[in-house]
Amino acid sequence: MEPLPLELPADTVQRLASELKCHPTDERVALRLDEEDKLRHFREYFYIPKMKDLPPIDLSLVDKDESAIYLLGNSLGLQPKMVKTYLEEELDKWAKMGVYGHDTGKRPWITGDEKISGLMTDIVGASEKEIVLMNGLTVNLHLLLLSFFKPTPKRYKILLEAKAFPSDYYTVESQLQLHGLNTEKSMRIVTPREGEETLRTEDILEVIEKEGDSIAVIMFSGVHFYTGQYFNIPAITKAGQAKGCFVGFDLAHTIGNVELHLHDWGVDFACWCSYKYLNSGAGGLAGAFVHEKHAHTIKPALVGWFGHELSTRFKMDNKLQLIPGANGFRISNPPILLVCSLHASLEIFKKATMKALRRKSILLTGYLEYLIKHYYGKDKPGNKIAVNIITPSRIEERGCQLTLTFSVPIKYVFQELEKRGVVCDKREPNGIRVAPVPLYNSFYDVYRFISVFNSALDSVERKHASV
Ligand SMILES: *Cc1c(COP(=O)(O)O)cnc(C)c1O
Repeated sequence: MEPLPLELPADTVQRLASELKCHPTDERVALRLDEEDKLRHFREYFYIPKMKDLPPIDLSLVDKDESAIYLLGNSLGLQPKMVKTYLEEELDKWAKMGVYGHDTGKRPWITGDEKISGLMTDIVGASEKEIVLMNGLTVNLHLLLLSFFKPTPKRYKILLEAKAFPSDYYTVESQLQLHGLNTEKSMRIVTPREGEETLRTEDILEVIEKEGDSIAVIMFSGVHFYTGQYFNIPAITKAGQAKGCFVGFDLAHTIGNVELHLHDWGVDFACWCSYKYLNSGAGGLAGAFVHEKHAHTIKPALVGWFGHELSTRFKMDNKLQLIPGANGFRISNPPILLVCSLHASLEIFKKATMKALRRKSILLTGYLEYLIKHYYGKDKPGNKIAVNIITPSRIEERGCQLTLTFSVPIKYVFQELEKRGVVCDKREPNGIRVAPVPLYNSFYDVYRFISVFNSALDSVERKHASV
């Protein structure tokens, strides 16, 4: 899928430690990693929350003026500083010229979404014509399935992964119901082997090989929201298409996290939200991809006026001239205020590039993994509380997130982390998700996280000695 780094993260950490003549867990290693990080200045493009402004903080445990240890960009990305400026530009325009804003200025409202979709091409690995920015993620998934899922008596199943995100699950379930299909028979869920947390690619491919003839659509996530597993998109796509299935991906946790080449991989369709790694703010403008090969054959099932070619859209003659491909799926005029926040973030991505971000991400998450294993690895019997990383350890099978499980109830651990200014999240059944994001997290953030993590677990041990 992607070339591995020349040196594995653990080897980099050990090499630096020996150069600095210190232990790999020493603060100096983190500082050196930051020094050598060519992307470190991008942190300055974002507002990083301060300890004192976080609701659950125990002020006796933190320095209130310090920045929080924010490791939750997988759930809600931080705010780029330019967002406010861009919003003000459009609000000013609206105040000063009203309706003339539709076709004036740097972001004419009628084409605001199109003005920034070019900034997505590197992130998605697709041409501008294959990308559309619209709606919310779940809405887009519905719209895509309405076009790509055309069940027949022989081919009627949708294949998805176990513990799919609830919204995706409900989408698939309700799409099946829309066609009058029995959901139990038509929803084919691939589950991990007994005693395993993540799926093996070979097991996914085997299901496709055996049952592919009855599968209409394969709809997987790219990176799984809970386990952090990065599925092998090209292999799943190839296997599915060889059996005549359409293959699509929900990229909520994938986009802006790993490098994507949707066009070259031949993926049929995909969709994503933009408030996670893409930092567009809650409810931000989502997106979708439809491969060029379908531009003239797969049509939107539900049509609105923004799917009509711009050149004749305002003739208002009710003679549909549908835009071929992804942009024909647009229904309404674009929400310009949502365009602004996404614009601010995508400009930063453009400067940083996905290639460089992914390179840093591998090292950043590798450093986190190294430290967790150092303190809590299976060969450390002194610990009362066992910590396990359920995210795959192979670099090609994960993005930046690590999911940790514990031998004690996670609520105890989570509370202690939260009080100390770590922003991460707990997810049922038993996981704490930690995601160092290469765009604004530093190696020093990871170092601080580990120090706090150690003291949080000590505290859990003391308070709940019997657990
Ligand atoms: C975050 C997320 C969603 C959220 O859907 P919205 O429509 O944006 O509310 C859906 N699916 C997955 C896999 C997600 O990670």
